[in-house]
Amino acid sequence: MEASTKLKRARRLQMLPPYLFAESDRMKREAQARGVDIINLGVGDPDLPTPGHIVRAAQEAVARAPNHRYPSYEGLRSFREAVARWYERRFGVELDPEEEVLSLIGSKEGIGHLPLALLDPGEASLVPDPAYPVYEAGTIFAGGAPVKFPLQAEKGFLPELEAIAPGDRKRARVLFLNYPNNPTAAVAPAEFFEEVVAFARREGVTVCHDAAYSEVCFDGYRPLSFLQAPGAREVGIEFHSLSKTYNMTGWRIGWVAGQRDAIAALSKLKTFYDNGLFLASQAAGVATLDAWDEFAARNAAVFQERRDAAVDGLRSAGFDVEPPKATMYLWIPIPTDESSMDYARRILRECGVVLFPGAGMGRGGEGYFRVALTQSPERLREAAGRLADAS
Ligand SMILES: *Cc1c(COP(=O)(O)O)cnc(C)c1O
Repeated sequence: MEASTKLKRARRLQMLPPYLFAESDRMKREAQARGVDIINLGVGDPDLPTPGHIVRAAQEAVARAPNHRYPSYEGLRSFREAVARWYERRFGVELDPEEEVLSLIGSKEGIGHLPLALLDPGEASLVPDPAYPVYEAGTIFAGGAPVKFPLQAEKGFLPELEAIAPGDRKRARVLFLNYPNNPTAAVAPAEFFEEVVAFARREGVTVCHDAAYSEVCFDGYRPLSFLQAPGAREVGIEFHSLSKTYNMTGWRIGWVAGQRDAIAALSKLKTFYDNGLFLASQAAGVATLDAWDEFAARNAAVFQERRDAAVDGLRSAGFDVEPPKATMYLWIPIPTDESSMDYARRILRECGVVLFPGAGMGRGGEGYFRVALTQSPERLREAAGRLADAS
């Protein structure tokens, strides 16, 4: 909806594109009203429930009165220790839970606020294109300048950092990266993270690596943490959360780990914005992190089966799609010469399938659409079959 004529919105808000899903939501509702059976492959929100043992741990924690009070800003020591234990087990990375881990109200919260803690007006952050929109938005809200660099298929969707203009590198304070990547589903090898550390040292930027999908991985592949790269903890931080691995998007349990000055800066900023993560959620977080391994693997297997069904169906339908090693997405070139918005609109109208248009993740996403594997294998096959008839 447009702003009313009386209310003037701040310029920083006007600088952002309108909420992408507004039109698609309207079209979806209209189609549903006509009785169309809609298959929604648009949003990256797992359709499956949170595991029962986590729900029960949370129920117990909610019933305990001491948990009803303000939490500490930085997060319970027990929660931060659980994060540190998990990093050690999963990645062999040892973290100081006191100074190298901070709880977040979902990782999006921390990512969005980080530029306010690290950027002065006029300073830049380096932002992949396409990307999760929060890197750019957080930068703009902080009065900073987002400088986009391309992620291209022929380079495996890994950036060429040296190709960023020297002037832009000079005013940059922050470099955002995200592997396994949303939306392209690309993964990063160890050598890439080593290059990133060298780049960060040379240019004096803080690396902000978003690892939201590190546990949604297939065929035995295990994504790396950026913090595993030698020297990474001196130049960077890593955002993570339980949202995608544990089907817990609504719970808002996240954290950031790594370079202590960056963590301290974000921690100080957050004391003025929020009062930390609900204590019962932190208790549920501890239960989740300590029982991580079994469920995370089972959950990844569910998404692997869906990936296989979707890739198989879409290939039969004539699409050019590779099975990704991680994430719950497929990133697929549009087979016609329509824009991604026009294509997504037409597919919704003709097939009742909601796709995410690549341009919603930035200009660099044009020419692609994203499929979220948030439906059963049968529904994914059904969607692929409908697309075969329409493209
Ligand atoms: C889903 C997602 C997140 C955020 O998840 P939270 O629920 O806020 O922890 C962060 N980054 C990317 C790339 C995502 O897709």
